[in-house]
Amino acid sequence: MLEVQNLGIRFGGNHAVQDVTASIEAGQITAIIGPNGAGKSTFFNLISGFYQPTTGRIRFLGQDITRLPTHEVVARGIARTFQTTTIYKELSVLENAMIGHRVRTRAGLWDALLRTGRERRDEEESRSGGMAALERVGLAGQAHQLAGALTQEGQKRVGIAMALSSDPKLLLLDEPAAGMNPEETVNLMALIRDLVAGGLSVALVEHKMSLVMGLADEILVLHHGQKIAEGPPNQVSRDPAVIEAYLGS
Ligand code: ADP
Ligand code: MG
Repeated sequence: MLEVQNLGIRFGGNHAVQDVTASIEAGQITAIIGPNGAGKSTFFNLISGFYQPTTGRIRFLGQDITRLPTHEVVARGIARTFQTTTIYKELSVLENAMIGHRVRTRAGLWDALLRTGRERRDEEESRSGGMAALERVGLAGQAHQLAGALTQEGQKRVGIAMALSSDPKLLLLDEPAAGMNPEETVNLMALIRDLVAGGLSVALVEHKMSLVMGLADEILVLHHGQKIAEGPPNQVSRDPAVIEAYLGS
């Protein structure tokens, strides 16, 4: 589904991601793990068009998406969440989900200002797209509450709904379980499994190895920006290079 080849980005002298060649298969849960600062979030930023790579190519569904702007990447079918929650707490849960949808429809600023016919159609479409996304994450009943009034777990789900409302084929989740207690984490894992059962492909960043072992089909391990291992959980967890990386961190 997604292939990166010799992907790299440098910030000054720091190779945040270096020469990574890897792929993400459709219909699976792929975990990207590695110690803090390994380049996991940067990897997502590259795939989603937030950062422009210094080297390498990115192909999605057979097409080159290297250097496409973020909204084009979303339009092709890749959506993401962020490591830190980026929801609008003063807006309703539904309004948050609608924002995600509008990234895809690209309802332009002019249309919004002029209240054109196209803007009204986009508004309706965003509303139904937003509601559909809320249903997928189990928040349809709270659509009209303020997002900031939800629990931390609820707010995380709003973030996932924002990404889902663009109707992606591949969803990138950056540390979705951060700050969650064990029960919330179990619920989140069930949600991710449901989404994948419904046909979505998921890649998630997680630095807690124990957490991804029961969830991931495939694991990609980054360390100092480089790929040090790739494979199913039982193989990766026994890999000496992986154990070394974690012990040393
Ligand atoms: P991880 O998510 O695995 O903890 P990151 O991808 O956030 O790691 O960071 C990898 C490295 O890239 C770190 O050394 C970080 O400081 C650096 N880095 C990430 N983004 C930037 C940026 N915008 N400017 C400079 N350095 C960055
Ligand atoms: Mg990170």
